[in-house]
Amino acid sequence: MDYVERVFEAVKKRNPGEAEFHQAVNEVLNSLRPVIAKHPEYEKAGLIERLVEPERQIIFRIPWQDDQGKVHVNRGFRVQFNSAIGPYKGGIRFHPSVYLGIIKFLGFEQVFKNSLTGLMMGGGKGGSDFDPKGKSDSEIMRFCQQFMNELFRHIGADTDVPAGDIGVGGREVGYMFGQWKKLTNLFNGVLTGKGLSFGGSLARTQATGYGCVYFADEMLKDLKTSFDGKSVVISGSGNVAIYAHEKVTQLGGKVVAMSDSNGFVHDPEGIDLATVKRLKEVEFKRIKEYVSAFPRATYTEGCFGIWNTKCDVALPCATQNELEGMAAETLVKNGCIAVAEGANMPSTPEAVEIFLAAGVSFGPGKAANAGGVSTSGLEMAQDSQRESWTFEEVDMKLHRIMVNIHSAAKNAAAEYGTPGNLVNGANIAGFIKVASAMMAQGLV
Ligand code: NDP
Repeated sequence: MDYVERVFEAVKKRNPGEAEFHQAVNEVLNSLRPVIAKHPEYEKAGLIERLVEPERQIIFRIPWQDDQGKVHVNRGFRVQFNSAIGPYKGGIRFHPSVYLGIIKFLGFEQVFKNSLTGLMMGGGKGGSDFDPKGKSDSEIMRFCQQFMNELFRHIGADTDVPAGDIGVGGREVGYMFGQWKKLTNLFNGVLTGKGLSFGGSLARTQATGYGCVYFADEMLKDLKTSFDGKSVVISGSGNVAIYAHEKVTQLGGKVVAMSDSNGFVHDPEGIDLATVKRLKEVEFKRIKEYVSAFPRATYTEGCFGIWNTKCDVALPCATQNELEGMAAETLVKNGCIAVAEGANMPSTPEAVEIFLAAGVSFGPGKAANAGGVSTSGLEMAQDSQRESWTFEEVDMKLHRIMVNIHSAAKNAAAEYGTPGNLVNGANIAGFIKVASAMMAQGLV
């Protein structure tokens, strides 16, 4: 067994049952092989063993009362994975599927993603197995306050800066920020994704979706084409999916299918974004309601079937492992030329292999969806300067960051012998900066 295999075996043994974490580590370590071979000093320094072990993992109880006065207990997590290049930074996810393995996979990915942005941010992630669906506004507020009642002692503007993720949007960030301020008597940029009236950044809401499309646009340029006239399938209908749709449409593409966890809608004339925004952002309804507004569209139960819809470009923007091998084969067969991941690890390892083998241009999540955290980094900069930049200014910086991430991944892929493989390129480019900081800082 070589060094990488030994480390991976130890990860599986030390973190039993955490399938998503194993999957993320396996992908990254395989990409890093040529870099590790070039740097034998990493093994002596135990660098990879340290890289795969979070610096700190916090698990806590969250008791809260529903509107009927009944007490519920959820579990909260914050995994502070790596602070070699900056304060821990990464979102908070509220979803019933959350357990330690999901938070560790997301925190591990975040280390490389944050490094790729070129900003000073380490990697972390948090969340709870709380299910926000069907909860009243006051239940959400009480839960967020109870979550912060423990989390506040572990975070800070120069220590660890959480943000949103699945199930955590502007409303939840607002409640958490309010409770942080109450508990600490501080007003600073401890959370990003805040409302515009209390330190939030313009364009943060749009950033992950827009950023994913800016990244995909660079991929298309390499294929000597553009979004103009392309048909696009976007899974999900949450924050990332909605703003990916907006940017695709601005660039002349047509989004023909979107989904939620129950099913997907197909509208051959193009999904009407205003209707999706109304259903999802205002009325909190299911995507199937779309067909009431547009009877020309069809609704199919089950979210996995969305990948049977013929398209030129696919943007998986819902959740991990939502695009499996068979779906990848169907996309290839239907002539899809590019896949850019708005979500974190939405394609299974088998699906990624199928795309790469078929020559489909593939943008992995840690590069393609880094626009969200990049703009969070820009929010931190504005907060510490007590300044607010214009939408255009933030959007321009976001665009530049996404173009840079694409070229960093592309160049690293070529330099280490796998030209065009942005999976390897993103992992390597993200790793190099973190590794050199860890080596310089000694055994801490
Ligand atoms: P939202 O909660 O706003 O939306 C999530 C969407 O995905 C919803 O349409 C949801 O459907 C669907 N979904 C969630 N879980 C599942 C599931 N198990 N199966 C099928 N569909 C599912 O989250 P975001 O848009 O913020 O996040 C989407 C992805 O993007 C996640 O992987 C997240 O980690 C990643 N990401 C988000 C960033 C951000 O800035 N928001 C930054 C970088 C990455 P339903 O309503 O039915 O649950």
